[in-house]
Amino acid sequence: MPELPEVEVTRRGVAPHLEGRTVTAVTFRHAGLRWPFPLDLPTLLAGRTIRDIGRRGKYLLLRFDHGTVIIHLGMSGHLRILDTSVAPKKHDHFDLAVGSHLLRLSDPRRFGAVLWHAAEDGPVEQHVLLAGLGLEPLEEVFSAQILYQKTRNRAAPIKQVLLAGDIVVGVGNIYASESLFRAGINPKTAAHRISLARYELLADAIRIILAAAIDKGGSTLRDFIGVDGQSGYFQQSYFVYDRAGLPCRNCGTLITQIKQGQRSTFYCKKCQK
Ligand SMILES: [Zn+2]
Repeated sequence: MPELPEVEVTRRGVAPHLEGRTVTAVTFRHAGLRWPFPLDLPTLLAGRTIRDIGRRGKYLLLRFDHGTVIIHLGMSGHLRILDTSVAPKKHDHFDLAVGSHLLRLSDPRRFGAVLWHAAEDGPVEQHVLLAGLGLEPLEEVFSAQILYQKTRNRAAPIKQVLLAGDIVVGVGNIYASESLFRAGINPKTAAHRISLARYELLADAIRIILAAAIDKGGSTLRDFIGVDGQSGYFQQSYFVYDRAGLPCRNCGTLITQIKQGQRSTFYCKKCQK
């Protein structure tokens, strides 16, 4: 599943090809993905200029003067910039053309989304899908102090609190396991029992790990394809994720795998207390 780093890499990849450009055509080849497509989008966007490509959590935001196109990649979606002459393939459900090239969304499993939020309905950040999102981990507003304050009444394990996304976004299953390892925190620890000093370590770990993943061009998914059409990208070297039974890179103890809320968690019993 594309995580925040992949979405940010996608944003950086497509933005130079779209920002300041005028939409010449919008094409849907399906009734919808997770939700029905806004079928009036071709009319709404024709001749309009894309002001900016933003991101909130894992949602890409194509901002126009009169509203915002919200795109989510779901489980298997990817976006590419292609020449308009490139014929669509089976899972290419949405094109947004800007003259000689286009943005094309391919999504084999169809859990993605393309939605329209009109400016007259208020700031896009208040859209029902965005309003409940936590802080952006790579922005200055995110801090250990916030993590500490917002977990004082949260008895759930810290791993699950991170995955919930209502305090901080972008710390998905892989990055939660890796961040907790880096911070030396056992993923089963009740969030409200963790001290501010340890949240300092965790906040730093989250920032460093997400920034490193973005620098490397995303993370893991074999079927995520970068905007340049290159398939896959660098498999990252993880410390604990997907390393059950292998020796900890720090102490040699075998990595433990457990289930937390249906998701696999990986950690080192010796390094994480
Ligand atoms: Zn260890």
